[in-house]
Formats: sequence, C-alpha cells, structure tokens
Amino acid sequence: MTKRALITGITGQDGSLLAEFLLDKGYQVAGLVRRESWFRHNAASHLAGRIEVLFGDMAEGVDIASAIHEAAPDEIYNLASQSRPGESWSRAPETLLVNGLGAVRLFEAVRHHRPDCKVYHASSSEMFGPTAGASQDETTAFNPVNPYAAAKVYAHQMARIYRDSYGLFISNGILFNHESERRPLHFLTQKISHGAACAALGIVDSLEVNEMGRPIVEGGRLALGNLDIARDWGYAGDFIRAMWLMLQHDAADDFVIGTGKLHSLRQLCEVAYRSVGLDWRDSVVSDPDLVRPLESGQTQANPAKARRVLGWEPTVSFEDMVQKMVMVQVENLRSSNKKSEL
Ligand code: NAP
Repeated sequence: MTKRALITGITGQDGSLLAEFLLDKGYQVAGLVRRESWFRHNAASHLAGRIEVLFGDMAEGVDIASAIHEAAPDEIYNLASQSRPGESWSRAPETLLVNGLGAVRLFEAVRHHRPDCKVYHASSSEMFGPTAGASQDETTAFNPVNPYAAAKVYAHQMARIYRDSYGLFISNGILFNHESERRPLHFLTQKISHGAACAALGIVDSLEVNEMGRPIVEGGRLALGNLDIARDWGYAGDFIRAMWLMLQHDAADDFVIGTGKLHSLRQLCEVAYRSVGLDWRDSVVSDPDLVRPLESGQTQANPAKARRVLGWEPTVSFEDMVQKMVMVQVENLRSSNKKSEL
C-alpha cells in the first residue's frame, strides 16, 4: 500500500530534499506551507504538481490539526522552524511559538487524530550549547544559550514526554549542521560558496547582501565573523536519509546525527576558494561587527548509536560538499549574468 507522508517545513532545505527522497520511494507527499511562501520562489517550487500543498502556519494549532486530518499521514516529519539561532534573539516569542508550542500542538493533534502515525521531530545540536566534553551523544546534557536552542529543548523534551506517556511513536533527530546548495545565502557556508564563486568570476561587488545590509562581496572582500570557530558540517542529503531511517526503525528513540568530524571556518574558506583555483587569504576578512555575542561552542557529534542501530553513515565528504556548493553558485551567477545581458 502507498505510504503517505506529511512534511512541515517542506519549502526549506531539508523539507524539499526529503520530499524528493520520499517521492522517489513511492510515497504520497503532502506539505504544510505558509500561503505567502508558496507563491514566491522556494526550495520546493519545482515539486508543484507532485506534492499536495496544505496551507497553514505552525503558529496556528487549528492549521496543524486540519493538515493532519487532510493528509491522513503514516509518517510526519516536523521540520518547520524559525531556523536561525542568531535571528532568534530579535524574534524570541515567535521562535518559541513555532519551534516549541507548534511542535507540541502537532503532538497533541497526532494523539487525538492519528495516534498510529510515526513522527520525526527536528531537534538540534544547538541544544548542547558550550559543553565540556570532546563530543556529544544522546546522553549529553543540554545547555542552550539562545532562544532558538531553548525552544528546541522544550519541544525535544515534550516529544519524549508524549512518547513515554501516551505511547506515541515520536523520534527526535539531534542533527548537527548540515548544508547544501539549497541553503539561503545568509547562512555561513553558502555565503563563503558565494564569495568563492564571485572571486572566480571576477565579481567585485555582489548584488546579494549580508545581515548588515551590505553586499556579501564588497570591493572584492568577503567579510565574515570569527574565523576561529569550528563545526561538525555534513551534507543535507545524507541527513534526510537518517530522518527516514528513524521512522523505519521498530521503536521510537532519540538519535544524534553528524559526521563526527570537526572543520574550522578557515578550512571551509580554504577548500571553497581552492576549488576555483584561488587562495582564500586574498579575499576573506574578519569583521568584528559580524562576530556573534555568544557562540554555541565547538560541538562535535558522536553518531555511534545511529551507525549501530540505524546503519546510518554519511556518504558525502566535507571537501565534496563545499566544492559542490561553490560550483552551483558559479552556475547561478553565470546564468543571472546571462539573463541581465538579454
Ligand atoms: P529552513 O531551510 O530554514 O526551513 C525552515 C522551514 O520552516 C521552511 O519551510 C519555513 O517555511 C518553515 N517555517 C518557518 N516558520 C513557519 C511557520 N510559522 N509555519 C509553517 N512553516 C514555517 O531549515 P532547514 O535547514 O531545512 O532545517 C529543517 C529543520 O531542522 C528545522 O527545524 C531546523 O531548526 C532543524 N535543524 C537544521 C539544521 C541544519 O543545519 N540545517 C541543524 C539542526 C536542526 P517558509 O518558507 O514559509 O519560511
């Protein structure tokens, strides 16, 4: 029998990749989408006609319940979120409403209307905050240091409470940073890919702007914050497979998903610029105005449980991921240049 999946956050990076993955597996896929998002270009625009679009907002409990009623899903992937930790400082109430309360309303709707449905909930490695240990696994204590992480901790714990108290199948994926060519340009990895692509094409002032409202590349320079940070960065295509594997497992559980490898921002810049034959030190500068007040610390995944229980392994290397992102940026810039010449 054809399986039915409902994805919240389908217009985002993970949601659109997951939708493609599930469609390839023969699923019927529905997505909860904010009306205004569907009518502008988004990461799932190319799936129009192949997915069922259910308009709604995670801030509205009634929208969530009616989407579940309409879609009658066997699996729900709850990916919708105000997903930028930095922005959560200026949007703290909205972040809690969508990332925290929105998730709980979804669990409530499942409890009342679709109790046999399996649920994947998007937790985050941001929940760990600055930690003392060398790497983090499912037993590591949470220490959230921004509103985004605090809201994620709340939803994560509520998922466990609903699982244990009502016997619902809700699995939490504690995912570390995962990137792809679908990241919006204000994300660090994509900003660097864009910077390298501009350098390769000789673009001195890019049309795209950073969080200060200035061109991402200005006067041939790419301004970044703290170059000393390091992250466990993986490729999003690998991570959405882990989400699906969690719901194919016979019991709901929590899983840490990450590569287990730490790379510095300097290494990221080096790989990105090297992939177009350039030296990053000729273009990248550190701007104190772009340094975050409180960084989340250098978290590094220990994905041993996911490897052992789910058989999950990342397949795309850090270098391949960065190169791919840069090449897509080069293509995008070339085609927008061509369009502007017409
Ligand atoms: P993303 O690209 O920013 O996508 C976020 C999605 O949430 C978008 O589809 C957005 O829709 C939707 N959304 C936001 N507010 C909403 C609302 N009020 N009602 C309905 N939908 C709403 O994020 P992502 O990178 O795919 O991440 C997916 C999930 O994993 C998120 O929960 C994120 O916090 C979590 N996560 C991501 C990472 C990572 O490195 N990518 C790491 C750990 C955890 P619009 O198009 O309408 O804005």
